Amino acid sequence: MGKRSVKTRATAAQIAEPAVSLTARAAETASRIGVLPTSALPVIQDTSLFEAIDRVEGDTLPIISENLGECTRCRLHKQRNKIVFGAGNPRAELVFVGEGPGHDEDIQGLPFVGRAGKLLTQMIEAMGLTRDDVYICNVVKCRPPENRKPEDDEVATCSPYLYRQLDVIAPKAIVCLGGVAAQTLLKTKDPISRFRGNWYDFRNTKLLPTYHPAYLLRNPAAKSEVWKDLQKVMAHLGLKPKKTAR
Ligand code: URA
Repeated sequence: MGKRSVKTRATAAQIAEPAVSLTARAAETASRIGVLPTSALPVIQDTSLFEAIDRVEGDTLPIISENLGECTRCRLHKQRNKIVFGAGNPRAELVFVGEGPGHDEDIQGLPFVGRAGKLLTQMIEAMGLTRDDVYICNVVKCRPPENRKPEDDEVATCSPYLYRQLDVIAPKAIVCLGGVAAQTLLKTKDPISRFRGNWYDFRNTKLLPTYHPAYLLRNPAAKSEVWKDLQKVMAHLGLKPKKTAR
C-alpha cells in the first residue's frame, strides 16, 4: 500500500497562501476520495493556517518521544505515573486515537490495556487484525486525575505530539475513539453523536469517528453501530472480517 510522501515543513510562502485556496483544495480532495470535508461539520473553530499545514521535516516516532521527554508542560504531569506515548506498528495503515490514559495505562505506560482496551483488542481482532498491525495512541499522554476529560489547554499542549505521530505514521485511515479524539482532530465542539460513522478528511487522510470502547462497556447496545463503522474502515482498507463483533 503506498504511503504519502509529503513530509516538509511549510515554507513562509505556503503559509501566506490565501485560505480560500486551501478550502478549494480540501473540497477537491474530499470529492476525489469520497469524504466529507471537515467544513461539513456544523461548528468549526478557527484553525491557524500554520497549524493546519505544518509538518516537521525528518520526524520519526522516536524523535517525537524524545521531544516529549519527561514532559512537565501541563498540570497532568503532576499525578501521572508513566507517560503513555502510543504503541503498535509505526507503519500502520490504521491508527486508533483515544482520549487519554486511564489507571491501567498510567501504571503500564501502554495505551488501552484496561477493560476498555480489552474491548478495543476484540474490535481490532474482529476486523481481522492484531494490535501489532495497528497503532494506538491518545490525545493526551498523561492520565487526567479521576479519569476526567482533559481540559482544553491540556489538549492544546499535548495534541501537537499526536499530530506529529499521525504525520509520521501516515496511515490510510484514522479511527477516533470517542468525542475528545474526534473533536480534537476535527476541531469541533459538537457531540460525537452528530458526526459518528461518517468519513472526514484529516490532513488528506480519511478519518472516521466512532464511539469509545468505554462508552460501549456502559452501552452495549451501541456495539452494532460501532461494528458498522468498523466495517466501513475495513472496506476502505480491503479487509475481510474474521468473526462478528458481538
Ligand atoms: N481510554 C483511552 O481513551 N485511552 C486509553 O489509553 C485507555 C482508555
